[in-house]
Amino acid sequence: MTDLERFRAETRAWLEAHCPAECRGPMADDEMIWGGRDATFKTPAHKLWLERMGARGWTAPEWPAEYSGGGLSREEAKVLASELRRIKAQPALASFGVWMLGPALLAFGTEEQKKRFLPEIVRGEIRWCQGYSEPGAGSDLAAIQTKAEDKGDHWIVNGQKIWTSYADKADWIFCLVRTDADAPKHLGISFVLFDMKTPGVTTRPITLISGKSPFCETFFDDVRVEKENLVGTLNRGWDVAKYLLAHERTMIGAMGEVGGGRPVGQVALDAIGADEAGRLDEPMLRARIADMEIDAAAFRLAMERVGDQVKAKQAHPAIASMLKYYGSELNKRRHELLMAAGGADALEWEGERSHDGKTARDWLRTKANSIEGGTSEVQLNIIAKHLLQLPGA
Ligand SMILES: Cc1cc2nc3c(=O)[nH]c(=O)nc-3n(C[C@H](O)[C@H](O)[C@H](O)COP(=O)(O)OP(=O)(O)OC[C@H]3O[C@@H](n4cnc5c(N)ncnc54)[C@H](O)[C@@H]3O)c2cc1C
Repeated sequence: MTDLERFRAETRAWLEAHCPAECRGPMADDEMIWGGRDATFKTPAHKLWLERMGARGWTAPEWPAEYSGGGLSREEAKVLASELRRIKAQPALASFGVWMLGPALLAFGTEEQKKRFLPEIVRGEIRWCQGYSEPGAGSDLAAIQTKAEDKGDHWIVNGQKIWTSYADKADWIFCLVRTDADAPKHLGISFVLFDMKTPGVTTRPITLISGKSPFCETFFDDVRVEKENLVGTLNRGWDVAKYLLAHERTMIGAMGEVGGGRPVGQVALDAIGADEAGRLDEPMLRARIADMEIDAAAFRLAMERVGDQVKAKQAHPAIASMLKYYGSELNKRRHELLMAAGGADALEWEGERSHDGKTARDWLRTKANSIEGGTSEVQLNIIAKHLLQLPGA
């Protein structure tokens, strides 16, 4: 038996024994476990599942064990992922800390910052939000105006962020601030961390087209930020911001790969029924679903290949834009098909039968996939310039 085979056998046995029955099977987006000081859990079993996975470091399998990560090699992490898939385990934790901040801290943080923040992220104890966009700085992110004034051992931050996902639920924020107003715009930005309970931080939720309100306007009025919470070099926060964005874009792209919920073909079969040969009794829709599933399978393999390239330090820095673009467009296609499969029922906005318009609300939510984390147009610009090396306009 090879080491990897032994690892698979042990992992399988551990998961069988420790993944509660309630935490297996499809999980709706709004049932995700986000952790944090005010964490809520769908059931007590979901709390236990997070505690068990967090204690083993398997919420961040490839992070070093010295920071409470799983310390797994790339190959071991793939085995873990496939064993989790095998038992249809639900994610123990959804976390901007794991997906975005953690990788940036590993690359740019001080030893103290890594020791302080990474274990809390792994265990899901602190929930993070992202303070990048501002009313005048979205696609042109380097135009941010939120100002940090140097007061010796701390800064005083004033300004406004917008579209800050879950700002009203988050414990801490990773935030871009302008620390040098006279430097060229990319060179006067710093990347700082602070507690959302610091006096002077207020949030105001914004309602989405889907009727939900997961993101906010976030205001900073004379907010004190300690200098020890600067990540990376002063005025070089743009490097940290870009590195983090690559992880964010890959994470958003992965939505195309994973899909979540029940397979589209199954949903369509339940709604429309089968023909005599047992196939979906709607040939046009059947072909569209098959097309989408084939593209999703190819995308899954592309994600895996890029993951290997990243680990081997052979990936082009702009590759995350390709994953983000394709994965978010794929997720939008999947939800278009779910709407088509659901027929008139899928359009229902309220009521028990439609679970309060779940299909329609989820479909509308996917419209934002090609905006959040950088729009599809911006990703296409990056792909054209940096991957295809096409001439600029
Ligand atoms: C659901 C959701 C969650 C979000 N969460 C967060 C968050 O947690 N934290 C955070 O900081 N931000 C967040 N954002 C903000 C997101 O990053 C921005 O919306 C995004 O970067 C686009 O910026 P903008 O909205 O200012 O649009 P704009 O930049 O004003 O763009 C408007 C339109 O112009 C197009 N455009 C702009 N520039 C170009 C160009 N050079 N070439 C071609 N077309 C162009 C865009 O593609 C878009 O269609 C979130 C957004 C959404 C929708």
